[in-house]
Amino acid sequence: MAAYEYVDHTYDVVVVGAGGSGLRATLGMAEQGLKTACVTKVFPTRSHTVAAQGGIAASLSNMGPDNWQWHMYDTVKGSDWLGDTDAMEYLAREAPKAVYELEHYGVPFSRTEEGKIYQRPFGGHTTEFGEGPPVQRTCAAADRTGHAILHTLYGQSLKHNAEFYIEYFATDLIMSDDGQCTGVIAWKLDDGTMHRFNAKMVVLATGGYGRAYFSATSAHTCTGDGAGMAARAGLPLQDMEFVQFHPTGIYGSGCLITEGARGEGGYLTNSEGERFMERYAPTYKDLASRDVVSRCMTLEIREGRGVGPEGDHIHLHLNHLPPETLALRLPGISESARIFAGVDLTKDPIPVLPTVHYNMGGIPTNYFGEVLRADAEGKDEIVPGLMAVGEAGCASVHGANRLGSNSLIDLVVFGRAAAIKAGTIVDPKAPNPPMNEASVEKSMARFDKLRNANGAKPTAELRLDMQRAMQSDAAVFRTEETLKEGCVKMAAIRKEFADVKVSDRSLVWNSDLMETLELDNLMPNALATVVGAEARHESRGAHAREDYPDRDDKEWRKHTLAWVSDEGDVKLGYRSVVLDPLTKQDAGGIDMKKIAPKARVY
Ligand SMILES: Cc1cc2nc3c(=O)[nH]c(=O)nc-3n(C[C@H](O)[C@H](O)[C@H](O)COP(=O)(O)OP(=O)(O)OC[C@H]3O[C@@H](n4cnc5c(N)ncnc54)[C@H](O)[C@@H]3O)c2cc1C
Repeated sequence: MAAYEYVDHTYDVVVVGAGGSGLRATLGMAEQGLKTACVTKVFPTRSHTVAAQGGIAASLSNMGPDNWQWHMYDTVKGSDWLGDTDAMEYLAREAPKAVYELEHYGVPFSRTEEGKIYQRPFGGHTTEFGEGPPVQRTCAAADRTGHAILHTLYGQSLKHNAEFYIEYFATDLIMSDDGQCTGVIAWKLDDGTMHRFNAKMVVLATGGYGRAYFSATSAHTCTGDGAGMAARAGLPLQDMEFVQFHPTGIYGSGCLITEGARGEGGYLTNSEGERFMERYAPTYKDLASRDVVSRCMTLEIREGRGVGPEGDHIHLHLNHLPPETLALRLPGISESARIFAGVDLTKDPIPVLPTVHYNMGGIPTNYFGEVLRADAEGKDEIVPGLMAVGEAGCASVHGANRLGSNSLIDLVVFGRAAAIKAGTIVDPKAPNPPMNEASVEKSMARFDKLRNANGAKPTAELRLDMQRAMQSDAAVFRTEETLKEGCVKMAAIRKEFADVKVSDRSLVWNSDLMETLELDNLMPNALATVVGAEARHESRGAHAREDYPDRDDKEWRKHTLAWVSDEGDVKLGYRSVVLDPLTKQDAGGIDMKKIAPKARVY
């Protein structure tokens, strides 16, 4: 192995990732006077959060009656009863506080006539515990909410003297021999130097892994690096089989048209011009939750009622809405529709198709963001020195299916929670943990091997094989046959990775090597997804098995844990769903009868 020299850094806290969750955690840590670094492979405001359009859910009641209990109920139902009750209560209760904080930090929310934060309806968000009409709960800055949040949080983090390491690619966690996380290793992309960050707390905020699939709304940088690092550190990944398809990706490009479009009155039609959602979800129609709408669209196409020459997509209509509403509330997607579909949405419908959008699974945590592993008896045990937040983590508030606008709120609520918790367990006066040279060496051996990989198959080809396999075999509808085939294909692709070809050996702006490291991270994500899906013999949320069409609470109301070895072997285990709320009903908590499992209809 080539000899590598290191630049060493010492911090109280190192946050990996500068999306909404990473920045909210960074800001919260720095505000409390913890010496905080934020390491990010892209410039903070280029993180995928910047693309979030529709908005952020919180029961502010600005546009009509609402309360946190209704929000919690909708989240529980949205999760198809797989979310952890304590975490879902925490999310719904803390949401208004977190949004007002954002407002005070300077997020330029859209306004109502009276000057309050504007809120729009979103799929699955209702009143009266699912008995009443849709609620306007999703706070929005036009259709550029993520952009507004990200810029504000970056500015605030700088104001509080958080230190940023921008265009540093974190390669691995540094772990002590007894399983504590003590830092990360990162490769500085523009000059090729290697950096060791020693910290009392590491927070993974690396986002999702949409790019394991062929067609995804997420950025090319969403490669599940955090889960890759966790898997290599011997930690489990949770509920990876639950992958959300967004109903309205633009046909062809996969570019997202926000659910806010349907929130503002948009609707879907088939080749007969029928508003088919009225048939499947009589109450909430086009605003049923995402997994439901995606499945209905897929069924329409399968049954020969798709639109277009191939009959392979669906139309989304906004052309009946007043042009002023489109210009005021949906300016960004007006632009996207023109650029990516060649459609003037004041006149014509947009061609759309369900597209991979969000990963409910991730690194298991409690509702403070502390990472969990299983002890010898299979009980939850906290991994000292390690937290995970945002799409990289799994708290789990989204369970088997996330509601629209519940991710942005998850980012800020749990980014904030992680900072609050770290404030109580990280002692700025205590010495930093020692550096484990063996852990660094192991990681650098992998890095060096990939840098010099001289096999037969270029990274881009292997990546395409993986993306194609995932797209066809771990799709909206799944069967034993497709999933088994997916497991076999993915295992073979992982083996083939030993024969990967990297043609650039330099350390400066080596995008070939970076994409190879990303592919190495995507693989355990993809493997855990398809193997977990094959094993789960039921349909729940985004996981729709044609051979097991019903939800089976007796057998399967449990979280999947997947340990993926460096060779690509997947070992599965299970963890109980947290059923107890944080607050008992007589102390002001939710009426537990309201959130008891029942059939999920919209
Ligand atoms: C197009 C689109 C629209 C969406 N709209 C909405 C919406 O309206 N409402 C809603 O609630 N949700 C929405 N979502 C979902 C939501 O935006 C995402 O789940 C969320 O933004 C993820 O944020 P994050 O902080 O977890 O990570 P990201 O924003 O993805 O950021 C990841 C960060 O990690 C860093 N990173 C990753 N790997 C490494 C590494 N190896 N080394 C160093 N740094 C690394 C990156 O540089 C980046 O800063 C949308 C998603 C998409 C794709």
